[in-house]
Amino acid sequence: MGAEIVGHWIGGAESAGESDRTADVFDPATGKVARQVALAGAADVDRAVAAAAGAFPGWRDTPISRRTRVLFAFRQLLDEAKDELAEVITAEHGKVVSDAQGEVARGLEVVEFACGIGHLLKGGHTENASTGVDVHATRQPLGPVAVISPFNFPVMVPLWFVPIAIAAGNTVVLKPSEKDPSAALLLARLWQRAGLPDGVFTVLNGDKEAVDGLLDHPDIKAVSFVGSTPVARYVHQRAGAAGKRVQALGGAKNHMVVLPDADVDLTADAAINAGFGSAGERCMAISVVVAVGAVADPLVAAIAERARGLRTGDGRRGCDMGPLITGAHRDKVAGYVASGEQAGATVVVDGRDVEPDADGSGFFLGPTLLDHVTPGMSVYTDEIFGPVLSVVRVDTYAEAVALVNGNPYGNGTAIFTNDGGAARRFANEIEVGMVGVNVPIPVPVAYYSFGGWKDSLFGDTHAHGTDGVHFFTRGKVVTSRWPDDGHRGVDLGFPRND
Ligand code: NAD
Repeated sequence: MGAEIVGHWIGGAESAGESDRTADVFDPATGKVARQVALAGAADVDRAVAAAAGAFPGWRDTPISRRTRVLFAFRQLLDEAKDELAEVITAEHGKVVSDAQGEVARGLEVVEFACGIGHLLKGGHTENASTGVDVHATRQPLGPVAVISPFNFPVMVPLWFVPIAIAAGNTVVLKPSEKDPSAALLLARLWQRAGLPDGVFTVLNGDKEAVDGLLDHPDIKAVSFVGSTPVARYVHQRAGAAGKRVQALGGAKNHMVVLPDADVDLTADAAINAGFGSAGERCMAISVVVAVGAVADPLVAAIAERARGLRTGDGRRGCDMGPLITGAHRDKVAGYVASGEQAGATVVVDGRDVEPDADGSGFFLGPTLLDHVTPGMSVYTDEIFGPVLSVVRVDTYAEAVALVNGNPYGNGTAIFTNDGGAARRFANEIEVGMVGVNVPIPVPVAYYSFGGWKDSLFGDTHAHGTDGVHFFTRGKVVTSRWPDDGHRGVDLGFPRND
């Protein structure tokens, strides 16, 4: 074949692995195959997990001060490498460079949070809980853990989990998306340069075979998954059946509710940013604008005007919006536009006509705005994951809330209004995990936790923040008494605290 092959990172070095299966990695802006990625087989999974298991005892016992020093060094190296990483992301994912830089910056925040692991792992201590008895609580790492990530954030999503897992004393096998695998290898090199011992961070490239191998492997103690809802549900069930701790973050359908008193220009700007940024390939993208009452006409006009002004093209050329991840995905998204049109939606802005600023035949679809979408249409029911913004018109606030709460997804939502009371009520009664008030993409900062409700997350804990620390550790409570003469004697009664 002769093309460059992105391999695995096992035991501190890149290797092509033993499986001879590979997949194409595209440059989505040109449509050309840029390289191949190795797809792990069972022997590669075993080797990756063995490296992680072998490194665990030493890393677990490495003092927190030394682990923290590695985290600080990694944070510095990551910051220095942010432009290089952004270029790698854009080359394989397609998002525009400024957006890729933003992704790295949000990942960096989690590293900074994990630098405080000494404080985060502090347990409680009670002196004299009973006569001469002290009690303390501690949290300990789990062992080798797996992180399985989607294509749309090849740096940020792994960094939601990996720094916290490592800081807490676990070892990690990351299985990146096979669509944009190179950034993970760059992260592995940075970890190594930061002084992380070999085997503590492993990259296993592959597809379903690698995922299944990790889910079933007895030495993998926990799984953090991010991807589409059907796969998240599957991973949650399979890893759970294998007795593992699992958190599986799934897909989304995020609504932006716009009340009649909202500032139309500000809201239209927000809808454009959140609907078409990263070509709509964000789990927190706004895909439905719920226009309440008379705001609908001016809002649709303002969004349409802005959408027509966006430049679609190669993310390296200063465009506003890049391509979709594959040709097949672009065609699927275009198919949704056609089906919405057939079902009676009005195509106000049609991205199928786009003339991108790019060479070759990349996977482009321009910003698309559909008005008069109704809840029965597939453009409304399905996660499209592309630059298609649907407007659903309703008459009242109550109808808007019923629509959002009736949707099976519950990742993110936002309300746009100048009415503080309405916003407060919305935040309280909406059944969604992350809520924005005049903020269209309410991704929580790293010291809070990220996660949706309902079909957007399977498991009990969210990503990063204190939930992340809890997920990657287990609690232990130690009750101790140091013998002195007053405590001698046999007593078969249940221990009482007096
Ligand atoms: P995906 O589900 O196709 O793939 C995610 C991961 O699972 C990849 O590593 C992939 O190799 C693996 N995988 C794919 N099919 C599999 C199968 N049948 N069995 C086992 N493993 C499998 O998702 P994607 O297309 O890479 O990413 C986009 C999706 O991720 C969207 O649905 C998006 O909403 C979701 N997402 C969710 C969040 C969140 O926080 N909730 C964040 C980012 C992305």
